[in-house]
Amino acid sequence: MTVERRGTGGWAELMPVADGTVGPGSEWRSELYRIAVDQFEQAADLIGLEPDLRARLVEPRRALTVNFPVRMDTGEVRTFTGYRVQHTLTMGPTKGGIRYAPGVSLGECAALAMWMTLKCALVRLPFGGAKGGVRCDPNRLSAGELERITRRYAAELIPVIGPERDIPAPDMATGEREMAWFMDTYSQQVGHSVPAIVTGKPVVLGGTAGRRTATGLGAVYCLEAAMRRLGRPLEGARVVVQGAGNVGSVIAGELHARGARVVGIGDVSGGVADQLGLDVPGLLAWLAEGAPAGGARFLRDWPAGDHVGRADILDVPCDILVPAALERQIDVDRARRLECDVVLEAANGPTTPEADAVLAEREIAVVPDILANAGGVTASYFEWVQDQQQYFWDAGEVADRLRTQLDLAFDRVAETADRLGVGWRSAALALALERVADAARRRSIFP
Ligand code: NAD
Repeated sequence: MTVERRGTGGWAELMPVADGTVGPGSEWRSELYRIAVDQFEQAADLIGLEPDLRARLVEPRRALTVNFPVRMDTGEVRTFTGYRVQHTLTMGPTKGGIRYAPGVSLGECAALAMWMTLKCALVRLPFGGAKGGVRCDPNRLSAGELERITRRYAAELIPVIGPERDIPAPDMATGEREMAWFMDTYSQQVGHSVPAIVTGKPVVLGGTAGRRTATGLGAVYCLEAAMRRLGRPLEGARVVVQGAGNVGSVIAGELHARGARVVGIGDVSGGVADQLGLDVPGLLAWLAEGAPAGGARFLRDWPAGDHVGRADILDVPCDILVPAALERQIDVDRARRLECDVVLEAANGPTTPEADAVLAEREIAVVPDILANAGGVTASYFEWVQDQQQYFWDAGEVADRLRTQLDLAFDRVAETADRLGVGWRSAALALALERVADAARRRSIFP
């Protein structure tokens, strides 16, 4: 029989819980949170983190669940569920994206919020991690419905967000348009424009030059550094990218421009592969045009290459595999049959811990997510700084600073990995966790 052990109210003794739904950490129960905790524990072991700090840092500090009504185009009213999880308040305001997807849950947001904390610490940004989202299928919603969902969700979050408290940003299925609606809703409530409430806004509203491409570009900078360390050329390397959205499309375009051969790319509808190399500029321009009848275009309709399933794209032989779509794409079975030498984790949490062990055994180098996709939050930090100062930088300055910040982070990770004799993921997690733990120790306990 499981008994709730936290708290001192005495009700735990009165209410034993038999089914395991109540207990430490059970709020966040999900496969993704299990993965995040697994990684956290490994890093905590590596740095010898004391038990009280483990307990403080492994669970999110705050979480808000909201259920809200939205009038659909048909006139029907539907209720949507949204979340915002703030992982640690120790490092400064919290920061993290907002995603719209059918699988959004409290546990998923908790895992992603923890990774945001570690990512920010790794690149030394003055933020803790957060994540939020609305459970919905964005492909089945009109622009008007998406706007009403975004505005109502933003209004529901007002008690916990703010430019000094928690600053949302884009993630899956959200972008400049949603950030503009979000910023406008918040600004309407407080009575004046507050550009620093979100990052990833259009430039005209206080967004930064270079934010839209920053995550993909940052991943490419990390890959360049990784290939230099491995002593392998990027030029001519065969690349497969899963995901053709904000992140994947930039990576495919940038790697093609650097002379790599993109032999596969996939989206939710499936993938296209060609060992001779795909026409990346043509394909990206075709996707960006959108469908003639309006709405998004999908790769299953691209008229060239061999068509494969959306997960099968990962099996296409290549030198560099870039998961840039969503989490948990590389499990043990897939890790055993991957035909690549390097995995660049542009998506968050694309590899399960069990698969990670297989990749290590097979000596497949992994550029871990908290490093590979840190370009997005780094440019978001630049945007927030510019908003606070009302002084804006040009695209060149943003790109230079991004490159410097990520190159330094990569070097720290690679040096730590060599020193400790571990892989890049363990080194990145250990460095990040040590920084957060150091801050938590120094702030000590209130009261
Ligand atoms: P996006 O919504 O712009 O694109 C997602 C892409 O993945 C689309 O091409 C979609 O069709 C594809 N996809 C969705 N489900 C799929 C499935 N089941 N199988 C194969 N493909 C599928 O999202 P994005 O902003 O490019 O984010 C991609 C990943 O990068 C996510 O893991 C996100 O958390 C991470 N990330 C994004 C940012 C950012 O700045 N946007 C920053 C850091 C990390």
